[in-house]
Amino acid sequence: MASLDQVKLYLVRWLQLGKKLVRGDGQEVEFTQSVIDCDRYSREFERCWQEILDHQGNDFYLEGTELGFDSLFSSQWNISKCARCSMPVPRLELGVQAPGCPCDDLLLWPNVELPLPRAPINNHSRLTDIKSRLLNKTSHY
Ligand SMILES: [Zn+2]
Repeated sequence: MASLDQVKLYLVRWLQLGKKLVRGDGQEVEFTQSVIDCDRYSREFERCWQEILDHQGNDFYLEGTELGFDSLFSSQWNISKCARCSMPVPRLELGVQAPGCPCDDLLLWPNVELPLPRAPINNHSRLTDIKSRLLNKTSHY
């Protein structure tokens, strides 16, 4: 079973790569600022995370996955590492079949030239830089 912190970090790292948090009705959760504010999570993100917790993860999932956060909070799922890109991915505790990594539809990921998105300890401007570099590259396709 994944800890709450693991699930939170899973979300934060994917948000940093440009993935969206989606509600059950298909609506994307909008963040007006980076989810990381220097050495901590942004207040905006913390509010959102609290909302997810208030709903026990129901009706929230990461864009490109079908796995709701309610499942991630359950004992059946664990967070492990994608073999392709080292990003955190959900995996069934009993280890049958992984549902695939959200990186499946990121054409320019993994990118060995870029450091992996990290926990808030990381340098904020560097992460913003990574994201804008990724977005710039994507827009050229
Ligand atoms: Zn991956």
